[in-house]
Amino acid sequence: MPNTVSLKDISEKTPLFNREEEHNEKIPILDVQGLKKYYPVKKPFGQIRGEKRSVKAVDNVSFRLYEGETYGLVGESGCGKSTIGRTLLRLIEPTAGKAIYKNKDLFELTGENLREVRQELQMVFQDPYSSLNPRKRIGQTLEEPLTIHSIGTKKERTEIVMEILNKVGMQTDHYYRFPHELSGGQRQRIGLARSLVVNPKIIIADEPVSALDVSIQSQVINLLQELQEDLQLTYLFIAHDISIVRYISDRIGVMYLGNLVEEAPADSLLATPLHPYTQALLSAVPLPNPLVKKERIILKGEIPSPLSPPPGCVFHTRCPSAMNVCKMEAPEKKEMSSNHFVSCHLYR
Ligand code: SF4
Repeated sequence: MPNTVSLKDISEKTPLFNREEEHNEKIPILDVQGLKKYYPVKKPFGQIRGEKRSVKAVDNVSFRLYEGETYGLVGESGCGKSTIGRTLLRLIEPTAGKAIYKNKDLFELTGENLREVRQELQMVFQDPYSSLNPRKRIGQTLEEPLTIHSIGTKKERTEIVMEILNKVGMQTDHYYRFPHELSGGQRQRIGLARSLVVNPKIIIADEPVSALDVSIQSQVINLLQELQEDLQLTYLFIAHDISIVRYISDRIGVMYLGNLVEEAPADSLLATPLHPYTQALLSAVPLPNPLVKKERIILKGEIPSPLSPPPGCVFHTRCPSAMNVCKMEAPEKKEMSSNHFVSCHLYR
């Protein structure tokens, strides 16, 4: 019988993969504190000489990820949720803040330390086609991360890739195919396989099903859930569609214009959404029974520019419940019930 190398073997050989670590669910696996990402604007129209302006893509966002959970980050396009994912992986550099992982600040790591941590934090991108190299066969694409992280021999890498292909529901002959020979759903499975091949602990899934047909979306979501259980993964699931986020998430964070405005366990958020923006998002989710009517909250106006966000509460220009104080003071984050946080002056 030939010697085969499995992900489990690799885990045991490599300290980074050790899943036997003592797990205390009260200790977050990732603790994001005061994350800011500002993009300086060089020559904005109407700029006063000497004035520095910036686009506030993410403004002072804090949240925690606990091992084995799915944290859903939801909000309109441009609210900064994808920027958070990319910043955590250091694909873009943060302006300020910390992201504590294994007692180290991800934003301070360099060189070999950063490379090692990147093995444990992986990303699944929205568009599976553009995230795969069209000139490389699937096998080559999947083996690349293993080569970068010096995992296994050539033969062992091939065996790991075959095992992962099997895990994501693909056939071993897909190893020899090119991306254009696969369907959208299959390509996203390959995107998922590429992130799993180095045996990560945290997957940042950035709109992983938005580009897929509705029928395929549920397959990929179910696959994500199966893999999470099987491989003890922690997900940061980023999406604009709250109906998908609520299906997969244990906890949900709602973002608006670079700010985290509400955060709660999924059940609590769905049963009692507190922030007017969350209420509007949830009112747009269709009910399975067409005979049951619910009031749809239509938000007026466009999302303001992050280059000049409104003073006070950033949502006040569209909020149906806005008060005078909302135009002047930014609301503080308050805990209204167990782990249910909201930033809104309605809850003083
Ligand atoms: Fe609306 Fe004011 Fe609450 Fe902002 S703080 S969401 S404007 S009520």
